[in-house]
Amino acid sequence: MAGLYIHIPFCKQLCHYCDFYSCISLAKTGPMLEALLREMGLQRDFLPTGTLTTLYIGGGTPSVYSPRELGRLKHRALELWDCTDLQETTVEVNPDDLSPGYLEQLRAEGFNRLSIGIQSFIDRDLQLMNRRHTANSAGQAVREAQQAGFDNISIDLIYGIPGMSDREWEENLARALALDVQHISAYHLTIEPRTVFGKRAAQGKFSSVDEETSQRQYLTLHRMLTAAGYDHYEISNFARPGYRSRHNSAYWTGEPYLGIGPSAHSFDGRHRRWSVSSVVRYLENVDQGNIYEQETLSPEEAYDELVMVSLRTAEGIDTEELERRFGARKLRYFEQSARRFVEAGILEHIGRRYRLKPEEFLVSDSVICELFWPIHENITHI
Ligand code: SF4
Repeated sequence: MAGLYIHIPFCKQLCHYCDFYSCISLAKTGPMLEALLREMGLQRDFLPTGTLTTLYIGGGTPSVYSPRELGRLKHRALELWDCTDLQETTVEVNPDDLSPGYLEQLRAEGFNRLSIGIQSFIDRDLQLMNRRHTANSAGQAVREAQQAGFDNISIDLIYGIPGMSDREWEENLARALALDVQHISAYHLTIEPRTVFGKRAAQGKFSSVDEETSQRQYLTLHRMLTAAGYDHYEISNFARPGYRSRHNSAYWTGEPYLGIGPSAHSFDGRHRRWSVSSVVRYLENVDQGNIYEQETLSPEEAYDELVMVSLRTAEGIDTEELERRFGARKLRYFEQSARRFVEAGILEHIGRRYRLKPEEFLVSDSVICELFWPIHENITHI
């Protein structure tokens, strides 16, 4: 298994909560497309097996490009890697960029999954967040995608929005369920410092919802979507049977992935690479063939990363995998650290796996931190 992520660093306007790297000038979309194609060739050997199982074009807003331009990226991947087992090819799109013709062309280019950034079905919240679409156009975009033949559609929602009542969150979820999509990602609004919301918060003009509201809305999300037949398989992700995101699942199981484009990260199990978060400097770097910075994770950092990402999934952590990658000593440390949480009924220990209940994911950070490898290694008892 290996995934390819391509970051499209352009948006037509910036959402007030978003701190992904993106640029609102579309002047460089042409040179950027050529640079992305070039970088794919330059980084070809990063993936250890040379095979691709998933392709994800995200951003930013990939739908600033035409289907034909996005198709060029996919076809370059087909040339560079063994794609005989390429199972999932996703494009992130914004509802207001879509039309029946655009969607049909995306299908014709061979993309088989869409991720549509809806965020809310409440116009007031869409305006607050500076989204470009309306609640009605979001629903219409999903229906048009279904009519164009997409049968693997994910939509994104946001909860914990200041001013959104529990009742409105339930109505949002009911509208999402009525669309009968295969996958729903729902994220709690976080206020990041470098965003408009972050600046308003620093001036005392905006603040997060309280923890009780977060927890109530999270539990409503879990209850309504699981009752409707969705599998709550990761803290923010729900899927109909057979429709989990294979690309994102690979991140959570430590599979290698290559990220292409400004600010994109790559990971092969030991090394993490990333490109500069600047369109202009990225274009210069690709020209010079000098694209990324790299760090090598220590075994302890890699162990912490696996513990953190896997305990936010329904499968939890696989102790055989833990031992295979990090050895018997780290497994013993994990099992000893986990014991008190198992005894307290917080962690479940089933066969070779330890897992949290999905209802507990949102408040799992304090448990997960206790399972990390200690910063000052002074362990004599294992
Ligand atoms: S949320 Fe999406 S559309 Fe909005 S600024 Fe971020 S990347 Fe762009």
